[in-house]
Amino acid sequence: MTRDTIRLPRDVAWLLQTLRGAGYSAYVVGGCVRDSLLGRQPGDWDLCTSARPDQLRALFQDRQLILTGEKHGTVAVVLHGKPYEITTYRLDGDYTDHRHPDKVRFVGDLAADLARRDFTINAMAYAPGEGIIDLYGGRKDLAAGIVRCVGDPEARFAEDALRILRALRFAARLHFSLDPATGRAAEAARGTLQNVSAERLYAELDGILMAAGAGKVLAQYGGILAGAVPEIAPCMGCTQPGRWHCYDVWQHTAVAVEKLDPRGQDTRGARVLCWATFLHDIAKPLCRSVGPDGAAHFKGHNQRGAALARTILRRLKAPGYLVEGAVGLIAIHDAPLPEEDSGILKSLNRYGAVFLRRLCALKYADLDAHALTPEVARRREDVAAFERRMGVLAKTGCYTMRQLAVNGADLMQAGMPAGPEVGRALHGLLFAVMEGRLPNEREALLAAARRPGAY
Ligand code: ATP
Ligand code: MG
Repeated sequence: MTRDTIRLPRDVAWLLQTLRGAGYSAYVVGGCVRDSLLGRQPGDWDLCTSARPDQLRALFQDRQLILTGEKHGTVAVVLHGKPYEITTYRLDGDYTDHRHPDKVRFVGDLAADLARRDFTINAMAYAPGEGIIDLYGGRKDLAAGIVRCVGDPEARFAEDALRILRALRFAARLHFSLDPATGRAAEAARGTLQNVSAERLYAELDGILMAAGAGKVLAQYGGILAGAVPEIAPCMGCTQPGRWHCYDVWQHTAVAVEKLDPRGQDTRGARVLCWATFLHDIAKPLCRSVGPDGAAHFKGHNQRGAALARTILRRLKAPGYLVEGAVGLIAIHDAPLPEEDSGILKSLNRYGAVFLRRLCALKYADLDAHALTPEVARRREDVAAFERRMGVLAKTGCYTMRQLAVNGADLMQAGMPAGPEVGRALHGLLFAVMEGRLPNEREALLAAARRPGAY
């Protein structure tokens, strides 16, 4: 056992001291040990202990407790507004559904508790004075960048299929690879992901796609991911001969996800973009044809891709904003962008600046996963030119009814009878302004409104 120190937050140190002072054994465990050893800030600090839930309740009776996990041995103690989960050493029982242990059994010692944990890098514990408890070579794997199951990978994935995606999520987040035996077992067991609930699949897939190393994981482990999203399987090996591409559809997708730059987006925007990039070419295998020149064409893959993405995202019970946002982008990801101000203003009118900025980010990622030819570089420059001009017009242009220098009341005051004609007139005036046929000035617009057919 090596002696190392991890700097514990004061409340965590106090919890360990209190448990140990009362005669129990106790450690911080799992993700916080892993992240501390990597020099990353842990998300939360989990503790494990020999104390049973009723003993935890007695020991921390004058503290605020959260008892929703008590059946599984977890009591959360709230200190300074932050809950800390303390879990009794336990074994998981049998898994008959690849997902839920049928029962949990409390055990007396740490070793048995560490043995039930998923990966060696997640199976380390620490206590001040004792150092790191690392029974499965977690530190060696951390140093080598390897995700490896604790024990026999086939058995561990058979117990709980969600671990297959957890392995990929840690690989994506930490830029790690799967140990070969763990990778083989994950691929062999991928079909059992069908037994995992949509919510859990979505949460893990989202964790993978939002991680910095998502692209590499897609490139390397598409075969495993296909257990969760079977529609990606036909993308693998779907070649794209012609002058644009240097990858098959799946490798192109993986590189696009890697190249995606979501900076400047809020969390929702980043999520919409990650998923849209992941699914943007999902219908290409369904739309593939080869022309007489030997080049592949994928006519209609925008629209069919949007429909397929909607099916997939709904099946995964993705939030509504994500479904709508990603489907909307996929539906026009490959359509040409307008160059003239009038076209750009109409795009702003139809889609809004937030959507168009996302569309540009998707287009950059898509183009950066093409063959690096001058033609592709030119297309990228076209996107940049659109984005610059769109940014200016979004601030200075007139592209909504609200921005028009007249409103319905003005038209009625000028003599137009109330009714649907007012709305039609405003719409017509707005289009005339966006097309540069009328200035956005009150007098000019009122004059035009008085002359039917003038705009
Ligand atoms: P994160 O930073 O994503 O929270 P974490 O390692 O803390 O990473 P959690 O899901 O919070 O992950 O789980 C805490 C610990 O519980 C893990 O480190 C691991 O030891 C154990 N664990 C969680 N889920 C499983 C599982 N499905 N099978 C086995 N062990 C698990
Ligand atoms: Mg955690």
